[in-house]
Amino acid sequence: MNELQIIEYIAGQAGPTDAQLIKGIGDDCAVIRKDGTRVWLLTMDTLIESVHFNSSFHPPEKLGRKAVSVNVSDVGAMGGKPVFVLLSAGLPHGFDEAWFRAFTRGLTDACREYGCCLIGGDTVASPGGLSFTLTVIGEAEADQVVYRSGARPGDTVWVSGELGLAAAGLELLSAGLAPDNRAFDHFREKHLNPQARVTLGRQLAASGLVHAMMDLSDGLATDLAHLCKQSGVGALLHAKDFPGVATLAAAAELAGSDPLRWAISGGEDYELLFTADPGDRDHLIRIAEQCGQSISPVGTIGTGAGVTLIQKRIDGTSSEMAVAYQGFDHFRKQTVG
Ligand code: ADP
Ligand code: MG
Repeated sequence: MNELQIIEYIAGQAGPTDAQLIKGIGDDCAVIRKDGTRVWLLTMDTLIESVHFNSSFHPPEKLGRKAVSVNVSDVGAMGGKPVFVLLSAGLPHGFDEAWFRAFTRGLTDACREYGCCLIGGDTVASPGGLSFTLTVIGEAEADQVVYRSGARPGDTVWVSGELGLAAAGLELLSAGLAPDNRAFDHFREKHLNPQARVTLGRQLAASGLVHAMMDLSDGLATDLAHLCKQSGVGALLHAKDFPGVATLAAAAELAGSDPLRWAISGGEDYELLFTADPGDRDHLIRIAEQCGQSISPVGTIGTGAGVTLIQKRIDGTSSEMAVAYQGFDHFRKQTVG
């Protein structure tokens, strides 16, 4: 089974639902009624040593920050505000206490910066490496929550920030390439310490203009395929419009990699992926600017199924390639670094 099949199997086995549950398995967060107008948003993500991080090059303070960012990213992607955090820490016997203190400092600093607080968790010995699971609880106005399922044919597909930088950074770090080249620091930082777009997600949701939204954790090809499946639509992507890809050329040449592959299947960008009416373009760009972020249109939602990538050839003709689900899958590619 691949990751999607495992989740679909578990979802199929899940017991009866509850009247308070608005959305269960299948979106960035579960959505639970809080009161007459508000909802709770619940999400969980895990960082495992040698799967999600390589402790030989990942500074502990940045890892602590990343553990929070990758979780609050899911709350922001539904238009919510992170409020509470629970931490489960799995530590091997004889763990490095200075490392652990720095990790905890990064984690608690990031909680404060995102405006949420650590309220509990669990601490266990791990026979393998380090493992950290966070649960984040957020809140939102019920009528402002943006689901993956609202994309409509004719919508523009948008992404915030740039694509593929985290994948480039990971590859440079893993191979120990050009450690002193400051021009690549930005890529390395995107892997080591990504920033969740919580403010942008909340503002986009509050605008009422966004039809569907999620965060980019597994790569555009996989995440847009999830969004399309949930919405019952398909999508066309235009490779020439991918933001950031041109900046990856030198790093890609050094690493012997393809910048477009980083952008489409690299994963861990933690940018926002969303769809909206094409007529709302200028309004959306203004919202992003007010949040200090950039957004770029990268494609269009259509009536079909799946995700198709369109690339221009040098001779002016274009090629089309089906790319759905070509991003990161835990049960296809096993390790980082
Ligand atoms: P994200 O990348 O946004 O964190 P995932 O791809 O991890 O989302 O998960 C997709 C959906 O499947 C989410 O609703 C998540 O809660 C659910 N899910 C993932 N793994 C499990 C599991 N082991 N048991 C139940 N639900 C799961
Ligand atoms: Mg997500």
